[in-house]
Amino acid sequence: MPFAALGLAPELVRAVADEGYAQPTPIQTEAIPLALAGRDLIGSAQTGTGKTAAFVLPILQRLTGGVRGVRALVLVPTRELAEQVATSIRAYGRHTHLTGAAVYGGVGMEPQTRALRHGADIVVATPGRLLDHMERGHVDFSRLEVLVLDEADRMLDMGFAPDVRRILKELPDERQTMLFSATISPEVDALARRALNGHASVEIGRRAQAAEGIEHVIVAVDKLQKRGALGTILKAKPAGQTLIFTRTKYGADKLVTFLRREGIAANALHGDKAQSHRTRTLDQFREGTAEILVATDIAARGIDVDGIRMVVNFDVPTDPEVYVHRVGRTARAGAQGLALTLISPDEWLLMADVEKLIGQRFPREVIPGFEPSVPPLQPKPLDDRAAPKPERSMRPRRGGKRR
Ligand code: AMP
Repeated sequence: MPFAALGLAPELVRAVADEGYAQPTPIQTEAIPLALAGRDLIGSAQTGTGKTAAFVLPILQRLTGGVRGVRALVLVPTRELAEQVATSIRAYGRHTHLTGAAVYGGVGMEPQTRALRHGADIVVATPGRLLDHMERGHVDFSRLEVLVLDEADRMLDMGFAPDVRRILKELPDERQTMLFSATISPEVDALARRALNGHASVEIGRRAQAAEGIEHVIVAVDKLQKRGALGTILKAKPAGQTLIFTRTKYGADKLVTFLRREGIAANALHGDKAQSHRTRTLDQFREGTAEILVATDIAARGIDVDGIRMVVNFDVPTDPEVYVHRVGRTARAGAQGLALTLISPDEWLLMADVEKLIGQRFPREVIPGFEPSVPPLQPKPLDDRAAPKPERSMRPRRGGKRR
């Protein structure tokens, strides 16, 4: 189905064509007509599904030609995501006169204050900094028509619930509200009940689904051997842009130090780094000058890089839904990607939860020279049809590179 069939105005159809989008993604097909009709929405959608366009395009259409002033607000958990959504607003709105402003902490207030006072139609903000501006009277929401809560689960995980509640109290009741979240936990449900107009809301998207096109592989290895095994994998099979997740910032830094010693160009991205450092690191990753990025979950939240070939879980996440978030960074918009998890004997139960959530048994591999002291656990099949694949040794494929 072409974009034009969704009821979008010609200047928006032109903008998505400029972006090179041939057709809407499933969430866009579902959400755009409903959003254009003014419905409240709960979208169960992870990053990489095209959810940003699913709410930005209807907002642009609604605001075209009306009065000026802040008429739409998008709340996001991180500054990177704020920048990314603001960039999308510029791209999709390039044939309109509408403007967006990104508002987040860690940088000066003054340029944001100017943007808020003088004409931003759409404000994209992290909750804490927005509240600062609201308390100082820098922003007038009396004309607000649309509110989006993007990555609501992450916003709550990061402790923004009280800030979000305070912001909600200051917004006009008469408005359209859209909430997007990769997972719909009871907490997200409660927020949705508070923010959305229950009668008009519709739920779209599937819950906790890993994108198709991802190949999941588990590498069994002892805990203390993980770094060495990963270095060997990265050298044997350079995958291109690779995003590695560690549970802690400390773990991220230690891994980067190790990889550099091995001659692998790697950088760390986490909340302790200055904004300028984060921007430089992301640019190097995008351009491919340092193809390995090691990040914590929170830092990785706003990363929008197409063409990530491989996601590595250096630790198995304790929440299986976090696995879905992480691997969603590869195989975006229909591409192929590899999700590789290094798993030590103490992590097998966590992995079983992940496989249950995704509904697949992943192949177990071992790296020669890094065999674990305890053989990989072969869990019971999910059902009779899905028997586990036998363990196999990981040898570079012909041609060396994974595609
Ligand atoms: P999002 O889930 O909004 O973070 O989008 C993920 C990526 O998909 C972004 O790089 C978008 O530019 C891209 N994208 C969004 N919609 C489409 C589409 N209809 N066709 C191809 N790529 C898209």
